[in-house]
Amino acid sequence: MKITDISTRVYRWKKSAPIKNGKHVFTHNELNLVIVETDENLTGYGTGYDVSLVDLFKEKLVGKDPLSTEALWADMWDTKFVGRRGLTTRNISAIDIALWDIKSKAANLPLYQILGGYRTEIPCYIAGGYYAEGKGIKELQTEMETYLSWGIKNVKMKIGALSLKEDYERVKAVRSAIGDDVRLMLDANCAYRTFEALEFSRMVEEFHPYWFEEPVMSDDYEGMAEFALKSRIPLSTGENEYTIYGFRDLITKVHPAILNPDACSMGGISEYLKVAHYANAHNITLSPHGQQQVHSILDCAVPNVIFAEFYPKQYDENIYEAYQNPVHFNKSNGCIEVSNVPGVGLDLNYEFLDKYRVK
Ligand SMILES: [Mg+2]
Repeated sequence: MKITDISTRVYRWKKSAPIKNGKHVFTHNELNLVIVETDENLTGYGTGYDVSLVDLFKEKLVGKDPLSTEALWADMWDTKFVGRRGLTTRNISAIDIALWDIKSKAANLPLYQILGGYRTEIPCYIAGGYYAEGKGIKELQTEMETYLSWGIKNVKMKIGALSLKEDYERVKAVRSAIGDDVRLMLDANCAYRTFEALEFSRMVEEFHPYWFEEPVMSDDYEGMAEFALKSRIPLSTGENEYTIYGFRDLITKVHPAILNPDACSMGGISEYLKVAHYANAHNITLSPHGQQQVHSILDCAVPNVIFAEFYPKQYDENIYEAYQNPVHFNKSNGCIEVSNVPGVGLDLNYEFLDKYRVK
């Protein structure tokens, strides 16, 4: 089999209202697609956070066998010409995912089985608790109660945008709304300095959060290591880490309890698999970041994933319409069942999406 062409599509839609985490405001949602065509009537679809550099890699890939994922990854990862990590790795990720889509379809086997086939369902947590205009403590509690009414036992909330005292009150209110038996994850999105993160960790440990995500900047290994050592709330991090080299350093220098790799940015499925197994050898669990359509498959491939991150319709009004088979969780046990359809699950509803196409 040979690759004959590679193209991209970008869709973008406005949120009904902006939402905010500890550092960033989100006004739109995007769906970035890489399409890899072959001479055998098989087409691969990949997705990621950026596909603007895909043309840089096209001439390295056209004419090559799409099933040789390791060789193609090595060809693309030429740091002298494409730089290290960042946008380059995000683009390689989307391409690599499209290649695995082809591999799974060519084998006519579900992708989670090709990658290891460890389980057939994965518990999820709801990624919510954002800040928004007009959203106070009461509205935050109502949001969390809605998730519980769906049968969910794990919820996440954002911290870091307000004073420590104000965020303390938000965490206290959420714990009081969800009761003692629901896991509560906190996510600061790198908003703190180490001393602030440690102070906040001490303040809210009485509400026994399950993890404290990205307390400090992603490049600050020293700060993360200090947090991991001194905080009684386990450290979760890695959504902004790239490649096996970055994760090796994160694991050996910081030793977080939980890693949040994102195959759509850190280097694709090829790199994700290596990181998952390397983390397992260090007794580190995974809860991959976002992109539930792709990650729910990867979550079921390897042994050490503990939770899928699930974005509900409240985060993205179009997410269920965009896909022909959007990922859902089972309300009886809060788990996502893995897809048994070969491929990475990116069959899109083009008729619906056309009006949102920007590139
Ligand atoms: Mg996060």
